Amino acid sequence: MHYLHEKHLSKIWNPGTAFERDHMTRVAVPKGVKLVTEWNSQIVTSIFCHRAIAATLPALLAAWRSAFSEKEWMRMGLNKWAGCYNNRPKRGGKGPSTHAYGLAFDVFSTGNPFREAVTTFSPAVFDIAEQHGFFSGWRAWGHDAMHFQACVPHRTDRAAWTPTKMLVNHAWPHVAKAFLTVQP
Ligand SMILES: [Zn+2]
Repeated sequence: MHYLHEKHLSKIWNPGTAFERDHMTRVAVPKGVKLVTEWNSQIVTSIFCHRAIAATLPALLAAWRSAFSEKEWMRMGLNKWAGCYNNRPKRGGKGPSTHAYGLAFDVFSTGNPFREAVTTFSPAVFDIAEQHGFFSGWRAWGHDAMHFQACVPHRTDRAAWTPTKMLVNHAWPHVAKAFLTVQP
């Protein structure tokens, strides 16, 4: 096994208080990355997430910031943080959301809305995410461009999308190993 798939999440199917204690951590937003909450424009200084992405998530945020001018970064809405951990069911689906495991996050949800095939992000945004081990809803199933997750999705509706591209990424074995070895 070289990458983490959503099906592996069933190993820890019951997210909640014990899950948070055994799996979650809080990571600092990198210096120079000025994130604000999309819903009330509060500065985000740290993110509660799964330990498996404690290194890759801040690295991705820093990489996104350095890949674009500040103007472009803000124009695309990469500064608008829309949340990571949320112990909730999948919207319109079965079982917990990948957000319930702290393995997914959303960015600029109003510009990249749920179930809509529109995005404010350039292709480089998705390329950089994949290089850091995060799949996008946009590439995997063609909408929900706000959504990024650190595990291979169940849904891969887009013919052009292939999980094999993730196998060349060095972040993936690390994420899978970190996730699968942190058992309650
Ligand atoms: Zn999401």
